[in-house]
Amino acid sequence: MARTVVITGPSGVGKGTLIRSLRERMPELQLSVSATTRRPRTGETQGEDYHFMSPAEFEQHVAAGDFVEHADYAGARYGTLRSELETRSASGAPVLLEIEVQGARQVRRTMPEAVQVFIAPPSVEALRARLVGRGTDPPEQVEARLRSAEAELAAQQEFPHVVVNDRLEDAVEELVQIVRETTSTR
Ligand code: 5GP
Repeated sequence: MARTVVITGPSGVGKGTLIRSLRERMPELQLSVSATTRRPRTGETQGEDYHFMSPAEFEQHVAAGDFVEHADYAGARYGTLRSELETRSASGAPVLLEIEVQGARQVRRTMPEAVQVFIAPPSVEALRARLVGRGTDPPEQVEARLRSAEAELAAQQEFPHVVVNDRLEDAVEELVQIVRETTSTR
């Protein structure tokens, strides 16, 4: 059975909120903490939300082959460290990766046994409203994210599981079912 579950989809679709609710329902699930070169948002903590690092440090990890996958997204770099994945999976519980679409494609190639779930917005307008409304990013970041969203939405057909995040409770329920069925976690 799969031990890695990739949760992907456009920025602003609610992946973070869904994953929080999923982990309340299934506390044994581990969450991989990604590396990034973007600056911490207010309230984000080093090592908990991300391993925040300089572009030079990130590049060193790329050169050393430390990443399972990595991607450039909206002007910053993001990646999953192999060491992180190994630590999180040591308990034997499934590990969640919350990553964007380019990273999910890399994982599909290198870890074909991983479960891949695409989170889709109910509409493009809903996604725009959420990205603008959450107020966590400066306007140019919101624009960069909306530009990426178009290509990301087009990619959803590549994914075996698509969950539309319209009503949160329904989306979480669907996710719980997918994770239970594919990882044999009860
Ligand atoms: P944010 O800056 O909003 O935290 O994240 C921006 C995008 O990068 C989101 O779609 C998020 O899922 C994605 N992301 C976060 N960590 C990783 C990672 O390790 N690898 C990849 N490829 N994408 C990531």
